[in-house]
Amino acid sequence: MLELMMLGSGSGGNACIVKNEDTMILIDAGFSGAEIKKRMQSLGLEPEDLEACLITHEHGDHIKGASILSRRHRVKLLMHPATKQAGRKKFTGSERIRHFEMGEVMELGSMKVSSVPTLHDSDSSTGFLIESGDKQLGYLTDLGAVTEDNFLMMRHADFLVMEANHDRDMLWDGPYPPHLKARVDSRVGHLSNLDSAEFIAMLVELGKLRGVMLAHLSEKNNDPALALATVRRRVGNSLEIYVAEQHRTSKRIKVETK
Ligand SMILES: [Zn+2]
Ligand SMILES: [Zn+2]
Repeated sequence: MLELMMLGSGSGGNACIVKNEDTMILIDAGFSGAEIKKRMQSLGLEPEDLEACLITHEHGDHIKGASILSRRHRVKLLMHPATKQAGRKKFTGSERIRHFEMGEVMELGSMKVSSVPTLHDSDSSTGFLIESGDKQLGYLTDLGAVTEDNFLMMRHADFLVMEANHDRDMLWDGPYPPHLKARVDSRVGHLSNLDSAEFIAMLVELGKLRGVMLAHLSEKNNDPALALATVRRRVGNSLEIYVAEQHRTSKRIKVETK
């Protein structure tokens, strides 16, 4: 058994629970500690039961509650050394922090986690593949473009949490100042719905992927129905597609193999 529950996703904060029979981990802690606890408890879960929290990168929407979560609930934080360095102002020194190297396979309880760099304007942005028994879950957000290494890792995924940040027309017609539009649209910014759909379609062609959750949607430059329709149009009905929300937790989603 492997399941996920998105606590929330978007530029206002990201946090995702991944859980099997005996191990529970959190990916990112981008809400306040109190908010993460509240959202976990709404699903009948407690922060004390977390085996670890994986941090993708040091941006505030991924790390905001990491320090307090570690200090208050003794949660072990796992991050790349460059993430610790870049995010050092957000730590007091009393957290439980462990480092990983890209490509290293970490054993967390009964899960195995491997990491891959993503193209993003951060010192060390990371995607993860989590393995539990015969099930594999991929997690890929905060990337301006996908790399071959991203593909080589995520082709193993039965389920993928995948960024679909913006619709390019909405972005360029939208309210952001020009420099921010250019940043989001760059190769180290965020992934558009179309690019996301293209990557998902490549995985669908391999025949292993069964479901995706579109994540990190922009509230200003995207629309959940549009993101869903863009991916659906590209991949047809062969796939279960969920859309993560910023202000609400997702339902409990079971990762299934084909
Ligand atoms: Zn982000
Ligand atoms: Zn980021």
